[in-house]
Amino acid sequence: MIDLDGTIYNGLMPIPTAKLFIERLEGQGIPYLYLTNNATRTPEEVVAYLAEVCQIQATPDQVYTSGLAAVDYIAKNYPNGRVYVVGEAALARQVEEAGLVLVDEKIQVVLQALDRKTNYEKLTIASTAIRNGAAFVVTNPDTNLPTENGFVPGAGTITAFLKTSTQQEPFIIGKPFAPIMEGALSRLGLSKEDVVMVGDNYQTDILAGIHYGIDTILTLTGFTQAADLVSMPEQPTYVVRNLSEWTV
Ligand SMILES: [Mg+2]
Repeated sequence: MIDLDGTIYNGLMPIPTAKLFIERLEGQGIPYLYLTNNATRTPEEVVAYLAEVCQIQATPDQVYTSGLAAVDYIAKNYPNGRVYVVGEAALARQVEEAGLVLVDEKIQVVLQALDRKTNYEKLTIASTAIRNGAAFVVTNPDTNLPTENGFVPGAGTITAFLKTSTQQEPFIIGKPFAPIMEGALSRLGLSKEDVVMVGDNYQTDILAGIHYGIDTILTLTGFTQAADLVSMPEQPTYVVRNLSEWTV
């Protein structure tokens, strides 16, 4: 299971050693799944981005986002459920494709992600529903996203708004939490011992693996630096400077 940003590319910059790593996986017929907390892109959009930015060929079923994991979770626990989405078009489309119903009344589940066009009215509908007993499901806890212009507020900042209003704790799907790992494993059809989580961020990728009980490879090509590891009580299973150091 392979993270994207900081692992395969850094924003608009491809990481060349990652492409070699993927080619070696392909060569040996080792299955893999790209696992991202970003819920604003569909798998098809991620595939197009990988081809354009990294010249890496992938198929949509090789991409698992926190949005898809959230939809899988809701479809399993609230079949045909009535869902209010605070999120972008890609997420709303995935909710409908899973047989769930998009509504703004009699809401059973509030699904909240990053929504760059959200407004006070939408957040009022969401908080009222949560206060009235709707489940409060959040795709990913990221507080900030790196862009060419520095950090911009992430999904977690909208969660903070809803938490403040409702005084309720959300159920979070994305890394470092378990639901996305569970959904990814069931997509791959593999058990924990047969899988390794590869990523650049100790706080999300590596903790997701540690909490869920699977091995981890930290690549120092993105967010976490070697010096950051000194103070961590639990270490990644493996640490590499880049993924060309890893023998498949
Ligand atoms: Mg990353």
